[in-house]
Amino acid sequence: MTRRHEILKEMGLTPVWRLRNEKKEMEEVKEETGWIELKRIVPACTACGLHKTRTQTVLGVGDEQADWLFIGEAPGAEEDRLGEPFVGQAGKLLDNMLAAIGLKRDENVYICNVLKCRPPGNRNPEPEEVAKCSPHLMKQIALIQPKLIIAMGRFAAQTLLNSDASIASLRGRLHQYAGLPLIVTYHPAYLLRNLPDKVKAWQDLVFARRTMQSL
Ligand code: SF4
Repeated sequence: MTRRHEILKEMGLTPVWRLRNEKKEMEEVKEETGWIELKRIVPACTACGLHKTRTQTVLGVGDEQADWLFIGEAPGAEEDRLGEPFVGQAGKLLDNMLAAIGLKRDENVYICNVLKCRPPGNRNPEPEEVAKCSPHLMKQIALIQPKLIIAMGRFAAQTLLNSDASIASLRGRLHQYAGLPLIVTYHPAYLLRNLPDKVKAWQDLVFARRTMQSL
């Protein structure tokens, strides 16, 4: 018996301590089961019409218990082909953005999209598709329990904040999604086409890093 055990026993706290440990273990099991279920349900999902044209679903990538959760719009052609979000040029830029604030896509970071299937021709997602897919995202967020969400791009920001405001008016402030702090920034694919806004994205990341330090 360790010294800690002995002290706890003397104080009559062992059962409480044990109960806490058991509760933690039960939560871990619940979380594991939740992920297994989500990884089974999403690839088989036919809730909206996008299942007809997808190659595969793209659930997300990274640390499933990350403090940082980055959410984009929907998979593109490469993502649909490879089954991973943010590959290709936009993905490279996202990796660089992460590196700029000392992050890596697999370490304490999880990356996903609002939609898990690719809209054909990279068209904008339809409201009905978002409505059908949002339970998957909500479950995912509940399982990850991130400390901070970064909504990338107009679509993710407007969907998560239930707003039709522009990125310009939403960025630079701390919002909330399901009780979790949320920061808005530009989508990497947008930044590839609008280089001057990279400065603003950098400001958003600095704000995000500062916010995370204060959480
Ligand atoms: Fe299901 Fe979402 Fe894919 Fe639609 S986009 S089929 S709701 S996983």
